[in-house]
Amino acid sequence: MGEPGALVIAGARVFAFDAARHDWPQADIVVQGSRIAAAGPGAAAAWSGPVARRIDGRGLLAVPGLINAHFHSPGNLMKGRLPGYPLEVFMLHEVPPLAADGDAARLAYVRTMIGALEMLRRGVTSVHDDAYHVPVAGVESIDAIMQAYDDAGIRATVAIDQPNVVEYDKVPYLAELLPPHELQAMDAAPRQTTAELLALYRHLVSRWHGAAGGRLAAAVSCSAPQRVTDDYFAGLSAMSREAGLPFNIHMLETKLQRVLGQRKYGKSLVRHVHDLGFLDERMMVIHAIWIDDEDIALLAQAGCTVAHNPVCNLRLGSGVMPWRRLRDAGVPLCLGSDEMNTDDAVNLWAVAKTAALLHTLATPDYQRWPQPDEVLQALWHGGARALRREGELGCIQAGAQADIALLDLDTSAYTPLNDLPRQLVHCEDGASVRFTIVAGRVVFEDGRITTVDEPALRAEMRELMAASRAQTERAAAEAARLEPYYRDIVLRCAAEDVGMNRWLS
Ligand SMILES: [Zn+2]
Repeated sequence: MGEPGALVIAGARVFAFDAARHDWPQADIVVQGSRIAAAGPGAAAAWSGPVARRIDGRGLLAVPGLINAHFHSPGNLMKGRLPGYPLEVFMLHEVPPLAADGDAARLAYVRTMIGALEMLRRGVTSVHDDAYHVPVAGVESIDAIMQAYDDAGIRATVAIDQPNVVEYDKVPYLAELLPPHELQAMDAAPRQTTAELLALYRHLVSRWHGAAGGRLAAAVSCSAPQRVTDDYFAGLSAMSREAGLPFNIHMLETKLQRVLGQRKYGKSLVRHVHDLGFLDERMMVIHAIWIDDEDIALLAQAGCTVAHNPVCNLRLGSGVMPWRRLRDAGVPLCLGSDEMNTDDAVNLWAVAKTAALLHTLATPDYQRWPQPDEVLQALWHGGARALRREGELGCIQAGAQADIALLDLDTSAYTPLNDLPRQLVHCEDGASVRFTIVAGRVVFEDGRITTVDEPALRAEMRELMAASRAQTERAAAEAARLEPYYRDIVLRCAAEDVGMNRWLS
């Protein structure tokens, strides 16, 4: 029995982003199955096994596939739909608290697929999807999402982001301000029990964790500490610990959440999670904007990774994460687009550039501004760390997963070519991507997705969207009715002194 032949990329410039930071002007990558068998100058000539396909790498740049460390695929249908809102008003549209109906399984499948294909087109090979379900999670919608990732050919790690606390307990002052009939409607909205939700997790793990040759994986998510019951939070923490799964948790994204922590727990949300005993190295803490020095020390001590989503943070006016203070404390960072209704694209290149630029607002000391290498480190190694796949993802080296983007160097982004790492961060916008390879399989090549019929899926999405218009309009009307109360609360919290400021004003 002969082994299946290798995929050989020959004669490319290889920016390996391995521990030695190899940047070979001309080198080869030999891919056997889903992994890189060898990388470096002369690797193709040294390969004695059969070759199934040889890609002429001359004029191309090989980089590790990008890792989108934070994303919510259910937002994929809302690209460009919403005006500028702060998170709490935005969430009235994103996850309507009184929604009676959700997306059918086929719509969930097509919706997930559209985002996956946009990522593959831009060289994103891994996504960490914190998928929520409106109004409740179910096996059908979980399977629809996973099947889409399976069929698209992207590497996906997916959690079930399902809060189970009544809406007016997640937002300070809401219970005092809402009229009784709105409170009653929130009380009546369905909430899933810890047992129901953990059963769905067991389904996710048993059916999908490690599926598609290890390309699909499960993560856990509490969404945010204030949005789940303590017993569900404990169940998730135990599951993460026992199975070694990444744990998604949004913390201190907004000033309102800083106020909420004080009012609900008498402390910051980070301190609250620490005191519960759940803060650990599997946790990917999402946003971490309104954190203080004690929070930063707790995150560093626990070994958490922080997911930075600068485009989303600007879109929602959340404020600026203290990048340099987190880095000084040794907290690893990763980069995410967050969802399509807060970025309006899934473009990690734009996220990296925004991360590089945003933090110049924090200090005039230019030596403390983010440098290209550390932005790329967040993009690749930080993303791999958050997925608990360090050394396997986010680098080109023997033994790593063969997740690779091949970029055309004969494009405006690299003409003239002065400094490759800086131009990857500041010039590339995804338009140079010629090939995207995931687990050794070419999934995007010369402008075309190879795994599925992309034009047919886009056409189907337009049809399904038109059919669900009534549902969308109902949700928008409901959000408009509740908005004045949320606006009041956002502005009230904004006026409170919380001992820090993460805005310019
Ligand atoms: Zn998020």
